[in-house]
Amino acid sequence: MTHPDVIVIGGGLAGASTAFAIAQRGGNVLLVESAPGLCERASGNRFGLLTPYIATRSSPLERLYSAGYSWTQSLLKSSFAINSGFIGCGAIQLPSTKRFATLLQEELPLIGASDIRRASARECSDISGISCGQGGFVIPSAGFVSPVSFMKSLLLSVGEKVSVRCATAVTSIEREDSHWSVTCSDNSKFYATSVVVCGAFESNNLAPCSWLPLEPIRGQTVCARSSDCSSSLRTVLCFGGYLTPAVDGEHLLGAHYRHDDENQEPSDGDTDEILKAASRALPSLAFSRSHVASARVCFRTSTIDRVPYIGSLPNFGEMKREAETYRSGTNIREKVRLRQYQELYVNVGHGSRGLLTCPLGGEIIARLIHNEPLDSLQAAATLCEPARVPHRLLTTHM
Ligand SMILES: Cc1cc2nc3c(=O)[nH]c(=O)nc-3n(C[C@H](O)[C@H](O)[C@H](O)COP(=O)(O)OP(=O)(O)OC[C@H]3O[C@@H](n4cnc5c(N)ncnc54)[C@H](O)[C@@H]3O)c2cc1C
Repeated sequence: MTHPDVIVIGGGLAGASTAFAIAQRGGNVLLVESAPGLCERASGNRFGLLTPYIATRSSPLERLYSAGYSWTQSLLKSSFAINSGFIGCGAIQLPSTKRFATLLQEELPLIGASDIRRASARECSDISGISCGQGGFVIPSAGFVSPVSFMKSLLLSVGEKVSVRCATAVTSIEREDSHWSVTCSDNSKFYATSVVVCGAFESNNLAPCSWLPLEPIRGQTVCARSSDCSSSLRTVLCFGGYLTPAVDGEHLLGAHYRHDDENQEPSDGDTDEILKAASRALPSLAFSRSHVASARVCFRTSTIDRVPYIGSLPNFGEMKREAETYRSGTNIREKVRLRQYQELYVNVGHGSRGLLTCPLGGEIIARLIHNEPLDSLQAAATLCEPARVPHRLLTTHM
């Protein structure tokens, strides 16, 4: 595809679902990924959980996650994701934090998904198939999916509308007249009307995105061989960490969460912590090192306020230059008007809930590019607008 309409940079959950949403509308997309294959970084875990954000009171974040949960669920049920391999086994959330313990005691209706309910310890044990020892929240619609199978099924459904180029890093994006030019590590160059950057924290390597506050957060997961006791697990269990039912004789256990740690290799210490957390919450399982089949490290991307950046990219450089012409004490929010690049978008910063927010982000970007109304996605789109960031940075720096 020499002249795509849109170039999407990054082939994880965000990039692949954005390419899908654009192609669904007839756009020709070039998807460029630096790794040898799709979904090999944060999106490369064996499975990701699709579980809702449980709450009793509505908030902007709760509304974003609820919209994302419904959106991903509807995609998984659609004909576009026939071979996604989603395992809709349901999930049980045990009250691992003070917030969950409070929600469990409250009598207010639960929100986040239409089918969440409180359940006794006995019910949780009966549903999950193993002894839970305490009551919790049951979510029958939840489950888990291999992100790479999910994304490949979406891309398969749009055929040649998306051309995938792996093992190719984008090194620069520049505006040339009315087009964007994208240069890659093998010196190939492509032109398109629109570009969507979905490179997670590495988006900072591309000049127009270098200012976006993005933080990599290390995470480790463990695949553990099932035992006689654990093989009877029927639902996902969340207890601070999480445990999936066994698939091909192995459970996925996760996930470690650590700032300021660049170690790309799994560590025995983190493996032990993950196993200990599971054994503390579910003593009957008693996982030990002898169960461990493999461990994997990857990095989430966090943002300034833990809300993803989805939408048009502000031209921070121009805004900063203008801000520097004013005396200190000037009201920057009033004086410096928002400037945005034309037809340059981002879908990044999905933290620990990319399965909820990446496909929703892709749909929002596709609607923006195609000038379609956002309708029910308007609130999520407004919350995630990258436009919220520049003034915040300028006021802090002045
Ligand atoms: C341990 C762990 C467990 C998790 N568990 C869950 C879970 O259970 N449920 C859930 O919903 N979420 C989970 N998440 C979060 C979820 O995995 C992420 O939010 C999601 O994968 C982010 O997708 P992404 O496409 O933004 O990032 P990535 O998957 O990292 O994709 C970004 C891609 O961009 C590519 N790229 C970057 N720069 C360039 C460039 N210049 N040129 C070309 N390509 C480039 C990278 O190679 C990469 O493949 C977990 C995360 C971690 C770390």
